[in-house]
Amino acid sequence: MGSSEAHALPHDDVIPVIIVGAGPVGLLLALRLAQSNIRSIVLEQETTLGTAPRAIGYYGPVHNVFKEAGIYDQVAAEGMASGGYVWRTLPTEDGKGTKTLGSILGLNIMSRPDSDGQYNICSYSIQLAQCRLAEIMLEEATKTGLTEIIWGHRVTGLSQDEKGVTVTAVSGQGEARNFRSLYLAGCDGGKSNVRKLLGISLAGHSWPERFIATDVLRTASVVADPPVHFTVDPRYWAVVTPLEHVKPDTRGMWRYSMAVPAYEEADDGSRTVLTDKQVLEPSYVDSLLLRQLDGPRPSDHTVVRKSLYKMHQLLASTMHRGRCFLAGDAAHINNPIGGLGLCTGLLDADALHQTLEIVRRTIDPESVFSRYSAERRRVFQNIIHPFSSANKTRLHSADPKDTAREDWYFQALRRGDAKELEQIHAPLYDGWRTNMWDLLGASVKDA
Ligand SMILES: Cc1cc2nc3c(=O)[nH]c(=O)nc-3n(C[C@H](O)[C@H](O)[C@H](O)COP(=O)(O)OP(=O)(O)OC[C@H]3O[C@@H](n4cnc5c(N)ncnc54)[C@H](O)[C@@H]3O)c2cc1C
Repeated sequence: MGSSEAHALPHDDVIPVIIVGAGPVGLLLALRLAQSNIRSIVLEQETTLGTAPRAIGYYGPVHNVFKEAGIYDQVAAEGMASGGYVWRTLPTEDGKGTKTLGSILGLNIMSRPDSDGQYNICSYSIQLAQCRLAEIMLEEATKTGLTEIIWGHRVTGLSQDEKGVTVTAVSGQGEARNFRSLYLAGCDGGKSNVRKLLGISLAGHSWPERFIATDVLRTASVVADPPVHFTVDPRYWAVVTPLEHVKPDTRGMWRYSMAVPAYEEADDGSRTVLTDKQVLEPSYVDSLLLRQLDGPRPSDHTVVRKSLYKMHQLLASTMHRGRCFLAGDAAHINNPIGGLGLCTGLLDADALHQTLEIVRRTIDPESVFSRYSAERRRVFQNIIHPFSSANKTRLHSADPKDTAREDWYFQALRRGDAKELEQIHAPLYDGWRTNMWDLLGASVKDA
């Protein structure tokens, strides 16, 4: 890599940073760079923001990142607050044609609101659809005048040299355009073309079940506190959460994200694997939903959106090569239980923003870049991968009553020893965010 001069930012005739992907990770990076007076261009293959049902829960140090980006108040006001999580059995019949919420197997109260109903920042989870979060970031980034989004351009090629990166993007009409920048951030999701073009591999494993996320309008007769629950069941495990400020007996938007069992078993014991098309049939989606929905029958629910996903635990072999970086799902993928995927990606964007700020003042850019990759990969490998794997397997590894009694985490929740619970959650809360300035020391600031 060249001298510190070659890494000076901003630069008049070359775009400082090209970001590939206008998902929430790319948009947060664009916003934070703009707030540091660093221009960027975001190349997005689609013509609008994605609306598929995906992330919903944001917590821990992500709140501080929202605050520093100036969007915390809006995100918190629009989202539904959850001061904790509940683990339940499947809903049960009450014998009068109504299903009641399943019995509680575990309860984690993270915090309580103050007398005005407000939670302390970082002490609770904000439940807001990822597509709305991305809209808020897009609005804020666009306002700065330092972020340009080029819609409908798919990145298909890149090359880099001592002084910068050349990116080729193809429009919907098939027209290829070249862009030149000092740096490139691949925030282009799990199937990242940037990662492939850089020759970076992913290693890990895929889970046997699929997962279907549905956004459902329904009238809930009960809105429990906390309102988010996990259904524990060997086959029909799920995550249920409101997507807005829902009230009892009022129609509101909920997210039901449900396991699609790895196979269906007939009475004679024969097993079949449903195709994706069969799983997405309204009748099959309803059969899953009716197991999870509490309330009277017939249920008044309407499925507004649905998306089917595979689940993986995968990590890129590096998040940096030359002048190119990976962040978010482009770099690592985990199963969605416990809401760790996007939160980790947003914290990557935060660390990469710091990295690109620091590089303006250092004489050794390569070591700064390689530290970004090392630290964020370490966070995934040592914290996010094991936490998310345990979050998932806890939902389906045994009979729910046995899990409630025998699982170490449920036992700790029952003991309710605040110090013990703090220690259990500490790796996540204390180690999730990377402070590049602290890691690289005062020498960088003074260089
Ligand atoms: C059902 C479900 C629930 C989830 N719940 C949570 C949760 O509660 N909390 C949480 O933290 N995480 C959750 N996640 C994970 C979260 O959705 C992902 O981690 C998140 O979407 C990653 O964001 P991203 O910006 O990295 O990638 P993406 O959101 O995938 O965005 C990538 C963008 O890049 C664009 N792109 C791709 N290729 C190219 C190309 N070649 N050229 C130009 N543009 C390109 C895409 O069109 C897209 O806009 C959940 C995931 C699922 C499936």
